Amino acid sequence: MAKLKKQDSQIAKLIDLETERQKTSLEMIPSENHSSPAVREALGSILTDKYAEGYPGKRYYAGLKYYDVLEDLCRDRAKKLFKVPHANVQPYSGSPANAAVYMAVCEPGDTIMGLALPMGGHLTHGWKVNFSAKFFKSVQYGVDEKTHLLNYSEIEKLAKENKPKLIFVGATAYPRIFDWKKLGEIADSVGAYLAADIAHIAGLVAGGAHPSPVPFVHIVTTTTHKTLRGPRGGMIMVTEKGLKKDPDLAKKIDKAIFPGFQGGPHMHQVAAIAVCLKEAGTSAFKKYANQIVKNAKALAGELKKYEFNLISGGTENHLLLVDLRNKYIGGPEAQDLLEEAGITINKNTIPFDPAPPFKPSGIRMGTPAITTRGMKEKEMKIIAGWINEVISSPKNVRKVREEIKKFCKKFPLPE
Ligand SMILES: *Cc1c(COP(=O)(O)O)cnc(C)c1O
Repeated sequence: MAKLKKQDSQIAKLIDLETERQKTSLEMIPSENHSSPAVREALGSILTDKYAEGYPGKRYYAGLKYYDVLEDLCRDRAKKLFKVPHANVQPYSGSPANAAVYMAVCEPGDTIMGLALPMGGHLTHGWKVNFSAKFFKSVQYGVDEKTHLLNYSEIEKLAKENKPKLIFVGATAYPRIFDWKKLGEIADSVGAYLAADIAHIAGLVAGGAHPSPVPFVHIVTTTTHKTLRGPRGGMIMVTEKGLKKDPDLAKKIDKAIFPGFQGGPHMHQVAAIAVCLKEAGTSAFKKYANQIVKNAKALAGELKKYEFNLISGGTENHLLLVDLRNKYIGGPEAQDLLEEAGITINKNTIPFDPAPPFKPSGIRMGTPAITTRGMKEKEMKIIAGWINEVISSPKNVRKVREEIKKFCKKFPLPE
């Protein structure tokens, strides 16, 4: 960053400080990761300078001969990795990708269904403050009160009653595997489009550590910066099943992104997504994805020994949702204490949380980023011990902070 340091020392300094923070603490927010230097080189490239409105072969600007090759490469890599016939790699992020799906298959006022935010769903799946509830009639489903698994019979009942045009399935705080087959059958029984939002689990799906929704759904949306470990970004994919239901679906999706919803694509971001998709196709990434899950299961097992209550009793993916009520500490306090100690997690509502949303009873944590740094089951045991020390007594914070600083030196960020 020599040039930046000289020209804008204030910004350079902040980047240095953040780099140091990342190096010396454990990033355990499940939607975050450490991208590779190759991804960041592409993201920081000169490609940020060009407008490339349109798609390969159909652009509105001149000077784009290399960009067509680049976007085609990126789309082909996405299609190969996820085994789909169509991919759009232009969404700026996950939320715009989802917005474009509504735009592609719904009219304003149509009925849509999604998992409620306090049950682990995403804002864009029809939560009341979001466009997806303002412009559409949103019906929200939840998880079962006892098992904390998706309430499939409720989904089926609500679908039959409300005949939605589109059903979104996906989550930000759900520690279990999705039954895509069952969800596909429910959507088919009412003639709805089914969109799987795999923002959190895309890397697990790519690496074979979570079943793929592709055979059972019509549309797949994702972010590219969570378990997929790329730059911030989004993608929309159309499946064979989707094209069978609606032969124009791919065209509708592309038109919804541009010109429907966005202007010029961020081609530096598309380049970085292409790099991450190549990385995600390697056997090393397969190992990585499976280790994420092994680590999450190990962490869950250790935390249970310290009598932490885990929503759904454990995990089958990259994340854990912890109900802190038996520990007599709220989510926000736990978040602050752990941050002080060098463990970054986030406060989170738990299903049927009796506390208000800004003071939730739970915390959410995940293993994607620490697994990128090379940590394995052995390290999960140590981390669970630290979490227990901090939560059970705030006076341990400073001691744990020093231990984590030392520990982190053994696990460098990708360089
Ligand atoms: C993160 C996430 C999104 C949104 O992604 P942004 O890039 O933050 O807009 C959408 N859906 C789900 C399920 C997510 O977890």
